[in-house]
Amino acid sequence: MSPGSLALRALVLGSGAGGGVPQWNCGCRVCRLAWSGDKRVNPRTQAGLALSVDGANWVLLNASIDLRQQILATPALHPKGPGRGSPIAAIVLTNAEVDSAAGLLALRERQPFVIFATEATLEAIGQNRMFDVVDRAVVPRRAVPLGQPFEPLPGVKLELFAIPGKVPLWLEEGEVLTGEIGEGTVCVAAEAAGKRLVYAPACAHVTEDLDARIAGADVLFFDGTLFTDDEMIANGLGDKTGRRMGHMPVSGPQGALEALQRHANVRRILLHINNSNPILIQGSPEEAKVKAAGFEIAFDGMEVVV
Ligand SMILES: [Zn+2]
Repeated sequence: MSPGSLALRALVLGSGAGGGVPQWNCGCRVCRLAWSGDKRVNPRTQAGLALSVDGANWVLLNASIDLRQQILATPALHPKGPGRGSPIAAIVLTNAEVDSAAGLLALRERQPFVIFATEATLEAIGQNRMFDVVDRAVVPRRAVPLGQPFEPLPGVKLELFAIPGKVPLWLEEGEVLTGEIGEGTVCVAAEAAGKRLVYAPACAHVTEDLDARIAGADVLFFDGTLFTDDEMIANGLGDKTGRRMGHMPVSGPQGALEALQRHANVRRILLHINNSNPILIQGSPEEAKVKAAGFEIAFDGMEVVV
């Protein structure tokens, strides 16, 4: 569609989880196919979404460490010139994980934009002085209270709301609670041009609140990190379950397919997919299962016009 006509547009900048696909040090089944250039597995960068209502100005949901590469791959985000000037007007962070925030470090060339996040996330970012290279005088950081709508772009209304999650990995110490509901892990509800979208790239459990918001949405981007809860352990890739990492599995009891079954009239798209997840292999039984349940699998560069 042409810029100028109003519609809620979402661009998937990255559809992978931490590490992307293939992950630099990984030789798991999916990564091996990706390393060898097998057409059944598309390479993926780390999760992020860009939203616009006019096609000219954009707000990003999260800034992954792959952000520079994602901007290069996305013509809508290229500077229009003359001189300096990016169509990126704002960035919303859903947590302070490296996966979500490290891309800010790539945006330090005195380009004005605004960072929106909860107080807790801004505090975590603020503790890390490396982020001071993104000069606060040029790039203000605005704390957003949960449940309070704000407009990072004219015509694009967003709201942050809490879901069960955990503190960022780099702030973990002692016993880690993964069912915490607070400012640490949030989802984004977006509304523009009369359409609604929910972005939930990390979710340990579908709460009543999240369920109600999904019911009222046109499009949902949802946590597709692992297919099974013990996937990392079973593949010898780590010692944590998905739930311990703050992610519900796609399959199984209380997995995403089951928990979101009743929302058949919402366009449901899995994103933040880990490189261990067999749904990334085109033609696999796991991919077939997800599609048969009415879900889509996000890919880098996917465009959704609502
Ligand atoms: Zn892998």
